[in-house]
Amino acid sequence: MAKGNINVQTENIFPIIKKFLYSDHEIFLRELVSNAVDATQKRLTLAKLGEIPTVEGNTAIEVIRDQEAKTLTIRDRGIGMSEEEVNKYINQIAFSGATEFLDKYQGEEAKTAIIGHFGLGFYSAFMVAKQVDIVTWSQRDGETAIKWSCDGSPEYSIDPVEKEERGTDIILHIADDSEEFLEDARIQGILTKYCKFMPVEIIHGTKTEWIDDPNGEKDDDGKVKKIENEIPRVINSTTPLWSRTPADLKDEDYSEFYKELYPMNFEDPLFHIHLNVDFPFNLTGILYFPQLKKEMELRRDKIHLYSNQVFITDNVENIVPDFLTLLHGVIDSPDIPLNVSRSYLQEDANVKKISGHISKKVSDKLNSMFKKDRNSFAEQWDDLRIFIEYGMLTDEKFLDRAKKFMLFKDTTGECTTYEELIDAVGSTQKDKNGKIILPYTADAKNQHAFIAPALERGYKVLVMEGPLAAHMVQKLEEAYPDVQFKRVDSDVIDKLIETDEATTSALDEKQEAQIKPIIEGAFPSDSFKVNFVAMAPTAAPLTITRSEFMRRMKEQQAVGGGGFQMFGSLPDSFDVAVNSNHALIQKILGEKDEKKQKSMAKKAGDLARLSQGLLEGEELTTFIQEGYAELS
Ligand code: ADP
Repeated sequence: MAKGNINVQTENIFPIIKKFLYSDHEIFLRELVSNAVDATQKRLTLAKLGEIPTVEGNTAIEVIRDQEAKTLTIRDRGIGMSEEEVNKYINQIAFSGATEFLDKYQGEEAKTAIIGHFGLGFYSAFMVAKQVDIVTWSQRDGETAIKWSCDGSPEYSIDPVEKEERGTDIILHIADDSEEFLEDARIQGILTKYCKFMPVEIIHGTKTEWIDDPNGEKDDDGKVKKIENEIPRVINSTTPLWSRTPADLKDEDYSEFYKELYPMNFEDPLFHIHLNVDFPFNLTGILYFPQLKKEMELRRDKIHLYSNQVFITDNVENIVPDFLTLLHGVIDSPDIPLNVSRSYLQEDANVKKISGHISKKVSDKLNSMFKKDRNSFAEQWDDLRIFIEYGMLTDEKFLDRAKKFMLFKDTTGECTTYEELIDAVGSTQKDKNGKIILPYTADAKNQHAFIAPALERGYKVLVMEGPLAAHMVQKLEEAYPDVQFKRVDSDVIDKLIETDEATTSALDEKQEAQIKPIIEGAFPSDSFKVNFVAMAPTAAPLTITRSEFMRRMKEQQAVGGGGFQMFGSLPDSFDVAVNSNHALIQKILGEKDEKKQKSMAKKAGDLARLSQGLLEGEELTTFIQEGYAELS
């Protein structure tokens, strides 16, 4: 029997390992099964090279629970290790890996950095085991089986042993506080989470299991021993869709895979993108475009990150651009560094390249869909819009690419590209300063009173709705300096697009000064600013508008952007445009009975506010009662 001492500075490193990764113990199984997968693949490679005998028979990896012995065994038929290799890989390399790891990551920040990341490898077994045995027999000719054993102290032993098959058994003697890792559902759950797509067949088996059985013989805990060697369950599919050649796959394959990934998502995705790069970095994966509708899905855990078919995490923050986290699917890249903290990820050159590549692939796909079938692209616009807008707002490169397929939808449902839009409205909607004015609405139903006259004039009214609309307007004006967006209710129709042609006014300055206080008196506060506009006699006598500038300031303040906080809350302010050419205005002016004059102005003012939803509460009730009274 050989004994040795693991070269440690610390008294005993294992309690540290255990404590350190407290919240994420379950990853030990991922680490050990990954090692088993690597060992199996190494065997296949070496057999091909003729260094070891050809591979025949079963190569599956087994995870076997034995509740009687309180052990969990990870068995592979891989390359195995000689005594020399155990010394090198387990006693020296794996161990130094563990120390290095602990040196590098200390404290709370490190803890969060590590969760869901590769790191400790083999030694993570000590998070759940009080003793670990490695029983291994190398595939190389002339080697014999050995057993390495370590109880968590820096001492280990190596002894010769009998073993049935070549390969490695990692036997974990589960610690008393970790017995959950002997439970069927717990192990099945971990294996399904991390190993579902690993490239070597993985089987979950049971050697012994304690269960409650009223008819059976009881032990001290009132439990009996269940049948041994339960039927094992296969955990994984070894060639997940993303690892296969896109040319061999049909649309149905992709939708089936989507259902496999998200059994609870009942809606089919709109389309998918198969990622497949091997230079200058390695990246495979499938991204699905979900039906987003108008809501931005707040659960951003739908992209699963894998490294060589080993599940790592469903938090891809800082790995892909934020807007892409609205997508669903799988990204598999061994080139994403997994043992650095999240905040460094963004700065990593590979991560930058990878996220840039994904963003480009997504815009390429959208562009090709747009080019291939413009009509169906336009039909899907409502689902695509929020995603594309989010991308344009947050990723300059995406913004540039999206200019090709970004659609402007108007109140008639027509969708145009920017170029088409400018072709259509470039001459009719140009104002006196040469800017092309783009009237838009955020709420076509409630702004009907403004949309109708704009359409009558032959203007196009764009529909800019949803949570990102205000930001989009700003962004588009930056991207296209020739245009200016104006919400359709921001001014009266005559002033929405200002031209040099002036309509003559029926009122002179003196008359305006005379009626102004009367109209002002019809409104509740001085947040309503009265001014005169010479409009067509058929236009409304009074129109309440809200200046584009003031409204944008308010909106930005509401979402906390733009540094407006220092002003305190901005007051609401409205413009009341008095149509000096309307007969009613002249009638009010001509009214000699002052009381009657005031009441006429009040009624007109109330109607103007009513049409904007600005007449509320008691005022609205009074207005309606007076209306009925006039009829009776
Ligand atoms: P890593 O897998 O990151 O190299 P580990 O600590 O998990 O680090 O393992 C250290 C080394 O031990 C591996 O590189 C491998 O050479 C060897 N090893 C671990 N598990 C097995 C196994 N099941 N079969 C053969 N070799 C193994």
